[in-house]
Amino acid sequence: MKGFKDCPATVPGAHPDAGTEGPLQARICSALDAMGVWWMRLNSGARGRVRMAPRGTPDLLCVDPYLWIEVKRPDGKGKRGKNDQTRIAQEAFRDRAKRCGVTVVRAESVGEVVAAVNGARAKR
Ligand SMILES: [Mg+2]
Repeated sequence: MKGFKDCPATVPGAHPDAGTEGPLQARICSALDAMGVWWMRLNSGARGRVRMAPRGTPDLLCVDPYLWIEVKRPDGKGKRGKNDQTRIAQEAFRDRAKRCGVTVVRAESVGEVVAAVNGARAKR
């Protein structure tokens, strides 16, 4: 998308383990800001003794419009090699969300997120 090429490669406050999804996620976050979306970043799993969101929770929560975003590298590879437990937990989250009528976007590009946000806004 025009205008998002110069976005910073990292999100302020991003965990250093953001991995190779990081640059894409940063562009997605910039796009969400540009669209005036109320969103927040979520970390899942645990960092030492600190427990984060449950395993499988998507990377970003958009409050308005309401949807979840799981950022994925376009090449499908995980930084540390996504383990089966994480993959299964992410699938379970998506299945549960689907049953509840909640949108989860599996985004490999900024354009997919822009389309999802516009689609969610159009339904209001
Ligand atoms: Mg992800």
